[in-house]
Amino acid sequence: MIVLHFTPAGARRCTLAFGTDLAHDRDRMERVVVPQRTERGWLKVDPATLEERPGVFGAGDVTGLGGFTHLAYYHGQVVARRLRGMDARADHTAVRRVTFTDPEVASVGLSEAAARARGIDVVVAGADPAETARGYIHDFHGGALKLVGDRQRGVLIGATLVTPRAGEIVGELVLAIKLGTPLKTLADVIHPFPAFNRVLGESLDQLAAKARRSS
Ligand SMILES: Cc1cc2nc3c(=O)[nH]c(=O)nc-3n(C[C@H](O)[C@H](O)[C@H](O)COP(=O)(O)OP(=O)(O)OC[C@H]3O[C@@H](n4cnc5c(N)ncnc54)[C@H](O)[C@@H]3O)c2cc1C
Repeated sequence: MIVLHFTPAGARRCTLAFGTDLAHDRDRMERVVVPQRTERGWLKVDPATLEERPGVFGAGDVTGLGGFTHLAYYHGQVVARRLRGMDARADHTAVRRVTFTDPEVASVGLSEAAARARGIDVVVAGADPAETARGYIHDFHGGALKLVGDRQRGVLIGATLVTPRAGEIVGELVLAIKLGTPLKTLADVIHPFPAFNRVLGESLDQLAAKARRSS
């Protein structure tokens, strides 16, 4: 986490700190700056500008916006650009979450339950990576793929994968969610044989068909 205290005239003080430690140590955080905190104790920043107040920024774990190295790095980039006078804004709609177990677990966007809780008219599709050519080649079992779509908008809104290289495979779904790519376009993407990402093809096709049938 970085807390930077700036004025229009330039830098006055710069504090580099403290990951989750600071978020959970009220006394120490309040010696740095008297901060606004969320109900769960995180530094309360505007998720787009990452400012707790004008000139005071939070980035990474301490914001509670996601506990990932790649997100902390991204926040650092946004803060640095804002400090250089650019109107950089953080977008958290498609932050990928990856657990580097064997097999990897990756997800992005909303789960089916979270989407339903928001009142979204949901369509879902799934596939078993074991049923792909690469699954046979590696004798891989115990994986999963679940895709969640928004029927009204005809777009992907969430995905969870349990498969070797899930952290990489999820990449095109991250971009699709970020851009709101139509399901019919996603279903038309050709995945190379016998790459692990071929598991996406059939389920994207299913999801697009379900959304089309019921719209
Ligand atoms: C076991 C484990 C495994 C993880 N694996 C992954 C992974 O595979 N992928 C992933 O994306 N994320 C992973 N994470 C999460 C990731 O480490 C954090 O999201 C990321 O480090 C957050 O960066 P940050 O800069 O916000 O905080 P931190 O990386 O915690 O940086 C805060 C820094 O502040 C320093 N500090 C603390 N107190 C003070 C003080 N008083 N004065 C000066 N400096 C201070 C700390 O020493 C630290 O260097 C893992 C976390 C853990 C605990």
